[in-house]
Amino acid sequence: MRIDIISCVPRLLDSYFDHSILKRAKDAGLAEVVIHDLRDYSENKHRQVDDYAFGGGAGMVLGIEPIARCIRHLQSFRTYEEIIYMTPDGDVFDQKTANRLSMTKNLIILCGHYKGIDERVRQVFITKEISIGDYVLSGGELPAAVISDAIIRLIPGVLNDETSALTDSFQDNLLAPPVYTRPAQFEGIKVPDVLLSGHEKKINDWRLEQSIKRTQERRPDLLK
Ligand code: SAH
Repeated sequence: MRIDIISCVPRLLDSYFDHSILKRAKDAGLAEVVIHDLRDYSENKHRQVDDYAFGGGAGMVLGIEPIARCIRHLQSFRTYEEIIYMTPDGDVFDQKTANRLSMTKNLIILCGHYKGIDERVRQVFITKEISIGDYVLSGGELPAAVISDAIIRLIPGVLNDETSALTDSFQDNLLAPPVYTRPAQFEGIKVPDVLLSGHEKKINDWRLEQSIKRTQERRPDLLK
C-alpha cells in the first residue's frame, strides 16, 4: 500500500513516519508513506501556496492551482482509490473506515492549513472528506498521521502478532478487555487469578466477558 500525503508544512510529518510501527511497515515493504511539499508545486517565486479569502475576513486559504498540479502529477503515475481531504466537517473517522481503507492500494491525503482550502478543490478532486473529531486543529498533518497509523497497522504483517489488531477495541464493536503484566502483585493489588491459570478457554471467556462489561459501561452505543 502507498499513501501520498500533501502538505504545506511537510516537516511536521517527518519524525512520525520515521519511527514507530510505520517505519517497520516501510522497512518490510508493506506500506509506504510519501510526503509531498505543496510549495514544490507553486509557480510563485516565493513558493506561495495561500492567498486572501475572496469576500474578506480573517485567515488565508490554500489555493487550487498548486494542489491541482500536485494531485495531477501523482495521478500520472498511478490510480488512486481515494483522494481524501482532512477536514472538521468531514465524516468522523472510525475503525470501520480504517478497515476499509487498509484494503486499498493507493491513497492521497490532502492536509489543509490556515482557514482551509479553496472549495473548488473539494468539488473537483476530493473523493472523501474525513474528520478526526469535533474540534479544530491548525492543520491537517496530525489528522493525516492519525488515520495513516490506524490504516497501516491493520495491514497483515505490520504488527508482530498477526492477530493483535483483531483483539483491539472497536473490532466487533467491543472495547478491549483489561490487560496486565508482571508483577502479579503490586502493593497488594492482584492480577485476576484466571489470567495466571494457564487455562486458555477460561482466559478467553473471561476476556470476552470483560469486553462486553466494559462496552456496556462505557460505550453502550456500540452494542446497538
Ligand atoms: N476553517 C475551518 C478549519 C480550518 S483548520 C473550519 O472551520 O472548518 C485548518 C486545517 O486543519 C483544515 O483545513 C483541516 O485540514 C485541518 N483540520 C483541523 N481540524 C481537523 C479535524 N478535526 N479533522 C481533520 N482535519 C482537521
